[in-house]
Amino acid sequence: MRLRWFYPLGLMALGLLGLRTYQWLLTGVRVLRLRRFLNAPMRYAHWRIQAGSQCHGAPFHWPTTGYPGFLRHDAWALFHWHTGVDIFSGRPPGEEPVYAVYPGWLYRFPHWRATVAIRHEDPLRPGRFLWSYYTHMADAQGRSFIVEAFPPGTQGVWVEAGTLLGYQGNYSGTPGRPVGVHLHLSLVRDVHGRPANEARIWNTLDPSPYFGLPLNGWVTWRRPICR
Ligand SMILES: [Zn+2]
Repeated sequence: MRLRWFYPLGLMALGLLGLRTYQWLLTGVRVLRLRRFLNAPMRYAHWRIQAGSQCHGAPFHWPTTGYPGFLRHDAWALFHWHTGVDIFSGRPPGEEPVYAVYPGWLYRFPHWRATVAIRHEDPLRPGRFLWSYYTHMADAQGRSFIVEAFPPGTQGVWVEAGTLLGYQGNYSGTPGRPVGVHLHLSLVRDVHGRPANEARIWNTLDPSPYFGLPLNGWVTWRRPICR
């Protein structure tokens, strides 16, 4: 009798464990697929989505030509979820251009070597704002690939969709410890005119409806295809 409370709790724990295992499996599928792409980017060139595409009539333009290898909610550690989409060009650092996804006001805070963010009026939630956040735009040592028009300290410069921002790079945030060449793009909540902390998943939005693609790694194992 005294153990009655144990059963619902045990079932809940099992359920959570099952959910987590399922997430790891989905991320695992994407790790294998990304390895295939990076080993032979030209062979899988058709996996890339072209910069500027508005897939299925979505409001946001795709920011850079490349294969969306990791999605929002991909899980590598127990309590860590990927906050955005990683787009891999398959080309060397500093070559693949990155463009604004939607019109808005561009900011680059003084300590940002590889990052810019743009504040937009939210096309899907009228009257509200959100940010598109772009990073890894520097080389392994942290030399910036952001265009000269947006130096550190830039505050609220108006840009149109398709404005050139910089180039895909491999800067991790720690000089000399590069990541694979890609753009990390996330959509971040607005807090009184500032972007919320992008590193926390609950401060970010599901990019799927904005780009017209299945970009929520929680539920999809399919490779995003743009029509
Ligand atoms: Zn990322």
